[in-house]
Amino acid sequence: MSSHGSSAPAMMNPAQMEAVQHLHSPCLVLAGAGSGKTRVITHKIARLLQPGPGADLAPAEIAAITFTNKAAAEMRERAKSLIGAKASGKLLICTFHSLGVKLLREDGEALGLKPQFSILDADDVTSILRDAGGTTDVKQARHWQWTISLWKNQGLDSSQALSQAKSDDEQVAARVMKLYEERLAAYQAVDFDDLIGMPLKLLTEHEHVRKKWQKQLRHVLVDEYQDTNATQYELLKLLVGQDGIFTAVGDDDQSIYGWRGATLDNLKKLPQDFPNLRVIPLEQNYRSTSAILRAANNVIATNPKLFQKTLWSDLGEGDPVKLLECDNEEHEAERAVAHFVTHRMNLLEKHPGDPSKTAWSNFAILYRANHQARPFEQALRRANIPYKVSGGQSFFDKAEIKDLCGWLRLLVNNDDDPAFLRAATTPKRGIGHQTLGTLGEFAGKWKVSLFEALFTESLAATLSARALGSLHEFGRYVNDLEHRARHTFGGEDAKLLLLEWLKDISYEQHLYDGEENEKVAAARWNNVLDFVDWIARRCGGEIENDGGMTIETEKKSVIDVAQSISLITSLAERNADQNVVTLSTLHASKGLEWPHVVLAGINEGSLPFSREEGDITPQQIEEERRLMYVGITRARLTLVISALKRRKKGREYVQAPPSRFIAEMKLGEGGPKEDPREKLRRLREELAAKAKANAQSQTQTH
Ligand code: ATP
Ligand code: MG
Repeated sequence: MSSHGSSAPAMMNPAQMEAVQHLHSPCLVLAGAGSGKTRVITHKIARLLQPGPGADLAPAEIAAITFTNKAAAEMRERAKSLIGAKASGKLLICTFHSLGVKLLREDGEALGLKPQFSILDADDVTSILRDAGGTTDVKQARHWQWTISLWKNQGLDSSQALSQAKSDDEQVAARVMKLYEERLAAYQAVDFDDLIGMPLKLLTEHEHVRKKWQKQLRHVLVDEYQDTNATQYELLKLLVGQDGIFTAVGDDDQSIYGWRGATLDNLKKLPQDFPNLRVIPLEQNYRSTSAILRAANNVIATNPKLFQKTLWSDLGEGDPVKLLECDNEEHEAERAVAHFVTHRMNLLEKHPGDPSKTAWSNFAILYRANHQARPFEQALRRANIPYKVSGGQSFFDKAEIKDLCGWLRLLVNNDDDPAFLRAATTPKRGIGHQTLGTLGEFAGKWKVSLFEALFTESLAATLSARALGSLHEFGRYVNDLEHRARHTFGGEDAKLLLLEWLKDISYEQHLYDGEENEKVAAARWNNVLDFVDWIARRCGGEIENDGGMTIETEKKSVIDVAQSISLITSLAERNADQNVVTLSTLHASKGLEWPHVVLAGINEGSLPFSREEGDITPQQIEEERRLMYVGITRARLTLVISALKRRKKGREYVQAPPSRFIAEMKLGEGGPKEDPREKLRRLREELAAKAKANAQSQTQTH
């Protein structure tokens, strides 16, 4: 079930109300898991649109920043149900990164960036670094990538990095960084860190741009504030200005991205940087039963406290948290799936004909690392239970989708050399590596992009007529396709154009040629068709129902849509309402909730994660503990913790001690004995449900 699927009535407790009504100074809601922080954000958006001092804003004057694209899509859905499709369509609901894209597309020219710049993904960056550093060693390139990213997040450019480099390694990395910067500038491309760093530079150095955005965004709201990093915080400060008004919500106990540079300092700094900050705690958890919440509170109590918080629930004691001990990974998967099957059968008996209680989307299995999903996938497939894996390989990481994205990027920005290389060689069209090498040298010499070089007259001197012919043919085709894509609006026409393009380049054939197993090729082609549908839908023109009124959604051109693709890292939004079990990493489960959750592989070495015994710092253990807290608090009604006795390490099995976090949950101590009134209520409910079920089956038989 996607988060917040429980259609609770739109109620707010007094503290939530206070946060929603607080409009005159910055506001921080600091509270534990499931206390309704995200709900505060959506309701506050609705409030800001209503009349009154400090409010009465137009949708376009509000920006709500979420942690992932998926969370953004979900927030938009929630906003839609509160304020209607028309208004919610105009809200700026996005991640820090997509906000960065918007700023750069509109005003990046002040930094020498063309509006159609490309966004490189991690793979593009690795290959540029391999090339720039003159190595084929992917590990080395990834190491530079990591170092450069950290530097960028500290606001350093290559010359600053070089002057503060402490070792030979760092000096080399800084030199590679310089080449990397030059290439990105030549390609008119930016990487993910630039999407925060460059807007920050833009707003710092260009007052008129800063003023423009401060005037335009009159209220900024930030969800999951505890996971922002230092540059994101600086960007936020510039966006809201001196007396800026914003609403941030977060939970220091759920800060789980320290390894990527997120810092709790941002929480500590807020009251200092904004002395009129109003801090509002929330104490009631509306998500989990007392048994689950107690386990969560017990675990997190072991960490030193940054802010004191209390969290209680009046959803009743509920089922005790269960512990499963399993022999190995396969056994664990079997047991988890068997548990879901029996549990669901009981639910079907108790709540016949109530899919909200029995749907597969009510179930989730969460684990620390992506590779842990596999045995669960196998077991679920064997049991014929539908599932989706989120937080794993994203749709956009699949080779076939990357091929097509390469083409689209080239249409948007002809100077995007990595995209050029991908498109020119996929499928193969008589342009060989040698030709490309010569073209590359030529382009480097004249400091132009590959695409620009291709049409230069003097290129003829360096290439055979045949090679030149294939290059020109490719160039003309790209120009023609770009022209058509720019002038094709709306989903229906977009789909026709995209299918024609795939036919022109014989992409389906290319998939079958490159894959021995026909089934795999067919699956790839299906992904391609999904992708086409997905783009077409984004081109708009569909009729939507907005509270009784039908409106046609705005039509966009294929190029408009292609511009935003690099940012969307998963098709998760499309799957939001599917009736399937969720498999997810703990990191990707942040902010979500499910009625029934299994936390799998809760062993030392996996959670807390460590490569070697004892190679983990106390700070890392604290972060892993917060991850456990996040995991436990995803569950609403039942929670199973499973641990292995032995786990696979490489090819061998090693002893697997249970995670220290299991003892910290203090499950054995139990809670207060079930309140007798509570027990009575539960028994009554069960009897009533049985009676209802009987009555129903009788009406069916008669
Ligand atoms: P997390 O820390 O995990 O992000 P959160 O604090 O953002 O959690 P929400 O996701 O907003 O919490 O809310 C948790 C659940 O409680 C949701 O199902 C939400 O609909 C429900 N909820 C929140 N506030 C209330 C309320 N006042 N009355 C009833 N239900 C509520
Ligand atoms: Mg939340």
